[in-house]
Amino acid sequence: MTFYPLDVVECVPETTDSASFIFEIPEELRATFDYKAGQFLNFRIPWKDFFIERCYSISSSPITDARLQVTIKRAANGRASNWFNDEVREGSQVMAATPSGRFVLKEQRNNGLIFFAGGSGITPILSLIQTALLTTDRPVQLIYANRDTDSIIFKQTLEGLATEHSNQLSCHHHLSCDHDLDSDGTHLNQQKIEDLVAQRWDADFYICGPSPFMETVEAVLADHKVDDERVFVERFVSSIDPDRAEVQASVEEEPDIGDVKLKITADGKDFDVEYL
Ligand SMILES: Cc1cc2nc3c(=O)[nH]c(=O)nc-3n(C[C@H](O)[C@H](O)[C@H](O)COP(=O)(O)OP(=O)(O)OC[C@H]3O[C@@H](n4cnc5c(N)ncnc54)[C@H](O)[C@@H]3O)c2cc1C
Repeated sequence: MTFYPLDVVECVPETTDSASFIFEIPEELRATFDYKAGQFLNFRIPWKDFFIERCYSISSSPITDARLQVTIKRAANGRASNWFNDEVREGSQVMAATPSGRFVLKEQRNNGLIFFAGGSGITPILSLIQTALLTTDRPVQLIYANRDTDSIIFKQTLEGLATEHSNQLSCHHHLSCDHDLDSDGTHLNQQKIEDLVAQRWDADFYICGPSPFMETVEAVLADHKVDDERVFVERFVSSIDPDRAEVQASVEEEPDIGDVKLKITADGKDFDVEYL
């Protein structure tokens, strides 16, 4: 994989534990870094005496934004996310590979779009929503789950979009720990999801957020027999670091684990593979 140096031209704090990093793509790399809404970049980050790699979704839109942006939320004791938030500043240079990923809009569809985002899972979804609003007439619904109001990334941007595109976009914030807004202090569950979807099971569904959140939404869609062709998922997992590979290997070598299926995620799709 080839990594290219990108200059950080701006860092924007989004919440207390997340920030956006904006890159000016040099003229000679513009075509190389052409991207579709919903895609991500893989970054190569110096760590101790080696390098680690992490993917970050592009939160800017290729339609509305001249510069390319990623938005990174700190993970507790996480390596790359804290490195970005602590070390990367305007004028820094980072190494990134070209955009990839299939968590993108399907062309030539005019059914509704329903986005389920949880926490930092909003990053590719903001890009998809902005792009869909400007390039299609498809009705767009966002269901965005967070702990509380302060942890909502892009709150104002979303409010602005909902006002500007009030005929096309509706945003529902679900807050698990805030009773002030539309929340009863619990996580999204089947009943709430069904109420929010309100029989629009013919939509295209995009899901990105913490694993339990994604599993809940996917299970409801499966219950309602939503065709796999209309369900798009992006799972935020870290690549395995060179010094952590041993931990991973020791799990795989465990002798008494019986029949095991591995779930592999590639380009936004899950594959179940027998582990022999
Ligand atoms: C396609 C894609 C797009 C993504 N987009 C975004 C995005 O837009 N924004 C965003 O914020 N994130 C995004 N992510 C997630 C991101 O890539 C990282 O996984 C995330 O930032 C955490 O990385 P980290 O290096 O900070 O944490 P890591 O160092 O990977 O650690 C994560 C957690 O696991 C623990 N841990 C993991 N392995 C071990 C081990 N062997 N021993 C001990 N502890 C361990 C750590 O302590 C920590 O709590 C995306 C992921 C993918 C795959």
